[in-house]
Amino acid sequence: MSIIGFIGLGNMGGPMAANLVRAGHRVQGYDLVPAACTTAAAQGVSIMPDLRTTAAGCDAVITMLPAGAAVRALYDDPSGILETAPETCLMIDCSTIDVESACAAHAMAQQSGRCAIDAPVSGGVGGAVAGTLTFMAGGTQAAFAAAQPLLAVMGTRVVHCGAAGAGQAAKICNNMILGISMIAVSEAFALADRLGLARQALFDVASTASGQCWSLTSYCPVPGPVPASPANHGYRPGFSAGLMLKDLQLSQTAAAQSGAVTELGAHAARMYQAFAEAGHAQDDFSAIFRMIAERSAS
Ligand code: NAD
Repeated sequence: MSIIGFIGLGNMGGPMAANLVRAGHRVQGYDLVPAACTTAAAQGVSIMPDLRTTAAGCDAVITMLPAGAAVRALYDDPSGILETAPETCLMIDCSTIDVESACAAHAMAQQSGRCAIDAPVSGGVGGAVAGTLTFMAGGTQAAFAAAQPLLAVMGTRVVHCGAAGAGQAAKICNNMILGISMIAVSEAFALADRLGLARQALFDVASTASGQCWSLTSYCPVPGPVPASPANHGYRPGFSAGLMLKDLQLSQTAAAQSGAVTELGAHAARMYQAFAEAGHAQDDFSAIFRMIAERSAS
């Protein structure tokens, strides 16, 4: 049994912490929102009064927060978690954040004498509940070896992607593919509609031909072909358009900083921005099909 501090008990962090409790660990949790604490407490998480006590006595502190600024602020606080956590404590950040903030968090942990790992996830709330997340980890081999058993409790696939920040880099690149491919699949269905081609016929061909991809075969954006996809459930997320926009913006920040040219990524970010601004940030990201189809019809 390990003692684990868990900061950020939201849609993802709450069920991830619950899975650690179920695996026999003592989890000391903290969130700014009382409702998140109440839900986690019902799953056996011991709710702590503040950040300092959350980190005290821990073998590992996991953060699952909305943005890089929040992670940096936590690590940067001179009387905060890096002050109260034991020197042997492993710092694990599972949030999806910019590569620069991830590297800054690593540096602050290292300066304090502690090991750190960035380990963002793929798999959404369903994966967090089921314990089937994919973790993409960045950090030293020693930090990865220490984190691996804990991550394996919350996920089924744990990949060491490289040095500090490599986990975030992998997450951002993967989600840029996802955002672009969802738009590509949606445009193909919008075109099929205009051509009078049945959606099921396009699916039957493309799902086994060279157009095959996850956005089509597992998460088809039109109702019908894939019964479990959000398109058949009122486009309830799943993975929200707002989070897709966030990840595409992270990819564009990383592209600008690194000098990579990602024209389709930039265009996808603009499309999700328009979709979110039209009031659809809380819809599943596959609902972008509706915006594309409406534009085609007008
Ligand atoms: P969420 O908004 O539901 O949860 C974040 C929680 O962090 C909130 O409860 C908030 O109160 C808490 N928080 C913020 N600042 C805090 C602080 N300083 N101290 C303590 N608590 C604080 O978000 P989520 O959906 O759980 O996502 C968390 C992270 O996981 C994000 O980085 C997101 O991009 C990533 N992610 C989400 C999904 C998804 O499908 N929801 C999938 C993959 C990755």
